[in-house]
Amino acid sequence: DQPRPDTEGEAPEEVLHRVFGHPAFRGRQEEIVRHVMAGGSGLVLMPTGGGKSLCFQVPALCRPGLGVVVSPLIALMEDQVAAMRQQGVAAAALHSDLPDDQAREVKRDLARGAVKLLYVSPERLLLDGTLDFLERRSLALFAIDEAHCVSQWGHHFRPEYRGLGLLATRFPSVPRMALTATADPRTVEDIRAQLGLAESPVFRGGFDRPNIFISSEPRESERGQLRAFIKAAGDGTGAGIVYCGTRAKTEQTAEWLRGDGYDALSFHAGMEPGAKRDAHRRFARGDAVVMAATIAFGMGIDRPDVRWVAHLDLPKSPESWYQEIGRAGRDGLPARALLLYGAGDIALARHRILESPAGEEQKRIERARLEAMVSIAEAATCRRRILLRCFGEDGPENCGACDVCRNPPKLFDGTVPAQKLLSAVLRTGRRFGVAHLVDVLRGKVTDKVAQFSHDQLPTFGVGKDLSDQAWRGVARQLVAIGALDVAIENHGELVPTDAARPILKGEQKVMLRAEAVTAGAPRERNGR
Ligand code: ADP
Ligand code: ZN
Repeated sequence: DQPRPDTEGEAPEEVLHRVFGHPAFRGRQEEIVRHVMAGGSGLVLMPTGGGKSLCFQVPALCRPGLGVVVSPLIALMEDQVAAMRQQGVAAAALHSDLPDDQAREVKRDLARGAVKLLYVSPERLLLDGTLDFLERRSLALFAIDEAHCVSQWGHHFRPEYRGLGLLATRFPSVPRMALTATADPRTVEDIRAQLGLAESPVFRGGFDRPNIFISSEPRESERGQLRAFIKAAGDGTGAGIVYCGTRAKTEQTAEWLRGDGYDALSFHAGMEPGAKRDAHRRFARGDAVVMAATIAFGMGIDRPDVRWVAHLDLPKSPESWYQEIGRAGRDGLPARALLLYGAGDIALARHRILESPAGEEQKRIERARLEAMVSIAEAATCRRRILLRCFGEDGPENCGACDVCRNPPKLFDGTVPAQKLLSAVLRTGRRFGVAHLVDVLRGKVTDKVAQFSHDQLPTFGVGKDLSDQAWRGVARQLVAIGALDVAIENHGELVPTDAARPILKGEQKVMLRAEAVTAGAPRERNGR
């Protein structure tokens, strides 16, 4: 007879309290645990620190049998095993770096059922001996941690992970959970296909960082806006990061900030390795130090008390912005993020994508990400909600911790322009991007308009009252409120959602941000 580990059959909430010492599940943990307890498989998508481990640890302990956790990193495995043992859980690790005598001991413990949670490297798991052994055992679940290693799209591809696909066929009745922090849609689909999870649900959550107050402003006087922001962000303690679009700008920015009396440094990829190390060291240690940097500054910032992050230029995607502002407030205390943008940088970013040597497919994806970023910058509704939607997570209606929620912008009734645009989308067959739709609305006979006879449509030329720029603003805001989707995976065409119907039927008014639409060309005074 095998000894019964004492957590089997216990309720998940009890194990959460008793073993892990947490008062409650967080975010989607409860839903995920319930799904796996009932025997379901699925993919869990949460950022680092989002609380993925509990999602498999709790059901592994509560369900009968051995829980098997596949992990690519020996150090990570050893950490988790040590932590679990400290909490009184019979955990063990099996990997190629284990000395023979210890491996023998683990196998002996496994054989007599004295292990509840086994951490194992993929190559070790896939040995015939291991699989045969597991086939004869009762198994609580398989958890595949760092599941993005199965995908060749990312930079973390591990050939051994490919073999894990056989778990689906060899252990059809054992729940399989894949876990990753990578939210990139292509990688996500690849993981699901490779691991036989295409029919299983994807759980996304935990992306919110509620202690970071986020705000965005059109660039008017860059220095004045940054000065005011730094003051509001609690001048004097912790550190701050100013992200700049170019290397030269990091140096200029650090210089004027020093002129203002800040301990400001600059950082970019073109610096000597020694200078980079020095900048990193000074940033890590200095109080109230400000780093003016390009996005090259990021890896290895583990300072918990970064109080603010400002972007003087528009980031290339919501994913990069999220990652960059996420460097603030890791200590959980209030932090702030400011995003400045101008029509100039939006146009420049679009142009850069157009001119880049990337393939058409890649360009479309980059373009769609950029447009999503623009719609966050121009949002008339909660910015956090729009940002979270980019990760497939539903945020609250009003987060209360962004500038839009705190101080709603001036709006006007934009129902008529919204209807005109939506109807142009429908009449052209939902197959076109914003540029062509604007041409149709403004009544321009371009080659493409002629080719598709779009000058024959009733919507042709009905939008002459607004400028090209204003129409793009309407489009972005319709994307922002979710009435239109940008087909990221496709050609970047605008596609109406269910939310478009009541607008078209006149059942729902659309409030648009006055400033983004009525100003023909947004004013912009760059720099000083
Ligand atoms: P991930 O694997 O997603 O990076 P972890 O599982 O390591 O994240 O969890 C991150 C931190 O959050 C850990 O310190 C963990 O103890 C804590 N945590 C996770 N879930 C909860 C919860 N329900 N209540 C309190 N703390 C939690
Ligand atoms: Zn908000």
